[in-house]
Amino acid sequence: MTMDKIQLQKLRDLPIEGVAERLGLRVSRHKSLCPFHADSHPSLSYSTSKNMYRCFVCEAKGGTIDLVMRHLHMDFKEACRWLADQHNIILDEWQPAKTDEEPKAFDASRYERYFEHSWLNESARKFLFTERMLDERVVRWCRLTSWTDRKGVPWLQIPYYNMEGQLVGVQNRNLVKGALPRFRFPKGSECGIYNLPVLRLLKSSEPLFITEGCSDCWAMLSAGHKAIAIPSATLLTKKDVEQLSIINSQLSITFHMYPDRDEPGERLFMQLQQVLPNLVHHQLPPDCKDFSDLYLKKTPL
Ligand SMILES: [Zn+2]
Repeated sequence: MTMDKIQLQKLRDLPIEGVAERLGLRVSRHKSLCPFHADSHPSLSYSTSKNMYRCFVCEAKGGTIDLVMRHLHMDFKEACRWLADQHNIILDEWQPAKTDEEPKAFDASRYERYFEHSWLNESARKFLFTERMLDERVVRWCRLTSWTDRKGVPWLQIPYYNMEGQLVGVQNRNLVKGALPRFRFPKGSECGIYNLPVLRLLKSSEPLFITEGCSDCWAMLSAGHKAIAIPSATLLTKKDVEQLSIINSQLSITFHMYPDRDEPGERLFMQLQQVLPNLVHHQLPPDCKDFSDLYLKKTPL
């Protein structure tokens, strides 16, 4: 199995400190404890210009993929897949790289019919209603549906629409806990900002929440708020940023956010605040890592 060079480069270009944080390392002033030797003073340093890590004691060094391989004891392929899943990077379903062909555009007509009538298998119902306690109306609004592949793996199928309501991408989420890959995207899917059609329902005085990822967005909607989601804290794309600033200039609304209680969450807030100067910060309580957590704790059983 080979991987597209461009995709591989995307994984290599992920900010090294963000990747380290995703792995649970605490990075401060471009340094952290080294996980590869018994370290008590931070001796692993990060170069943001070279996007590399290096330990001055045990001499461990490398880039994003090496860091994941070593830290999670994964082989190259597994580490790439982990990185892609963590950052919602589309790996073209790991098909062998073709010749210099242009990437195929997303074929919406192939997928639209799946979302006309939602069908939720047992795994999907358990995930959405038992574990996440989402409102059925939200699941219907988001047109979530499910399917089971030839190997018997259940997938949740999440459609992405643009502001005009056209299907622009599909995200498949593996419903088997811990199974890899966690996500799959049909070719050409554009899974940027999620739940854009909600903007048409937004009244001018109504707050709009921004969440990280679909799951928090569903929880936010189930809690009665209007919300959109951006795909990932560590990788806010230029296109997502442009779209947000267009929304900000076209609609006079206030944006709100509960950043995840970790450094990537706070960094994302600060990045977004540069685009959306009126973004309001809401603090999660100390025992909640993200909004889904808070939603579950507040929702009576
Ligand atoms: Zn070391």
